[in-house]
Amino acid sequence: MSDQPESFRDSIPTVDAAGKRVWMYPRKPPTGKNSSPDAPDFFKLRTWVSWILLVILVTGPFIKIAGNPLLMMNIGEGKFSIFGIMFWPQDFYLFALAMITGFVMIAFFTAAWGRIWCGWLCPQTVLMEMVFRKIEYAIEGDAREQKKLNEAPWTQDKITKKAIKHGIFFGLSFVVANLLLGYIIGGEALLDLISESPTKHTGGFFALLLFTGLFYSIFARFREQACTFVCPYGRFQSVLLDENTMVVAYDHVRGEKRARKLKGESWEERLSIGKGDCVDCNLCVTVCPTGIDIRNGTQMECVNCTNCIDACNSVMHKMKRNPGLIRFASMNQIEGKTKKRVFTPRLKAYAILMAALLVLLTGLLIARDSVEITMLRVRGTTFQVMPDGKVTNMFEARFMNKTGRKMDGSLKLLNVEGELLYSDQHMQMNPQEEANTIVVITLAPDQLRGKETRVTLGLMVDEKVVDTHTTNFLAPGGGS
Ligand code: SF4
Ligand code: SF4
Repeated sequence: MSDQPESFRDSIPTVDAAGKRVWMYPRKPPTGKNSSPDAPDFFKLRTWVSWILLVILVTGPFIKIAGNPLLMMNIGEGKFSIFGIMFWPQDFYLFALAMITGFVMIAFFTAAWGRIWCGWLCPQTVLMEMVFRKIEYAIEGDAREQKKLNEAPWTQDKITKKAIKHGIFFGLSFVVANLLLGYIIGGEALLDLISESPTKHTGGFFALLLFTGLFYSIFARFREQACTFVCPYGRFQSVLLDENTMVVAYDHVRGEKRARKLKGESWEERLSIGKGDCVDCNLCVTVCPTGIDIRNGTQMECVNCTNCIDACNSVMHKMKRNPGLIRFASMNQIEGKTKKRVFTPRLKAYAILMAALLVLLTGLLIARDSVEITMLRVRGTTFQVMPDGKVTNMFEARFMNKTGRKMDGSLKLLNVEGELLYSDQHMQMNPQEEANTIVVITLAPDQLRGKETRVTLGLMVDEKVVDTHTTNFLAPGGGS
């Protein structure tokens, strides 16, 4: 951290002393030919990562793995899919375990690499910085022009620019709302909805417009406030980070004492009187989407977007100084306490816990039945004795096909000889669907074991037993 006062911790740059919003005008970070040739162009790299993520985001509802959606959170129907693995309400323990594993992973990656998720992978940042912000730059120009335009009276030019920008923002928000719906109901259901008139789904259409309005207000107005005020992850980081965490950090040892570079001042002269490499140009602050000054040290608002690294490296290049005055580093590295990446006991504990949870989750997923049968006696029934002495019991069987393929199933009595009667058409098990049928089991007296006989039914697919269910078969008693 720099030797500047700590007053910055008492307020945030996006709100003034009266509690009013301060609108951020982040400058375009130097990239491409404007970036430093001596250091990685992080903005370019981030653009590539964002393109890949955007392709996944847009195609996600339609991507299938083993016939199941890549990601689906259908809360209404109780169907969830993560990386093509389907979870049903019965699998809630697995879903909960997957969530816990996810939290431990987040804790591990945050403790090791800070808020790298926020700046590089979070859909909010990717959409805001790589889509909406770029459109804004294209229509209204860089930060200075945007500010000028906002402060200018409502001329024809301003009205046109604002109308085009907000029209595009609203259209894109509508697309994002549709994609969100696709992740809830699945890609095919979304396409069905789109192909039909909104008048057939007025409720759904209004919900879609509501979400469109929500996304529009986030990307057009709320912006970085979502990361600083709303997202709980930003708050977590203060307990997860320590002095060994790799974060976007300002090298205050090298940079301080910051001072403008005077005309004709040589670097030797400058350093000899205690001035550092920071020329106090403020470029790192002006490119920051959350408006903070990273030279004050790691702050909750920093989303690790690396814009300030690119900005400072370009300045260092012009000054003929080494890049990396702002870089990915731990506080201990900056202060020279360690050179290498330290794998702290806390990180080791997270890693062991994460590995154990992953092994447990994988084991449970492998052991999980992909097809399930459950049977319940038809309510209010017991048994019926036929004229030939045979006894029948009636059950309601429920089948669940958790796979992504259609299956033809059949039932078989596994531990007794008897007859089975059930409706054939119900044994067509569609992917990720439940089916029910009434099953009548008939046993001859020589198969009965008193009043209650344990009967095991096998669900057969491709002549293999894929699941079994054991139930009590009731009889008047006294069987052979
Ligand atoms: S301080 Fe740097 S890395 Fe952090 S949000 Fe601002 S520009 Fe991005
Ligand atoms: S961009 Fe670099 S040199 Fe300029 S103020 Fe920031 S840290 Fe100092």
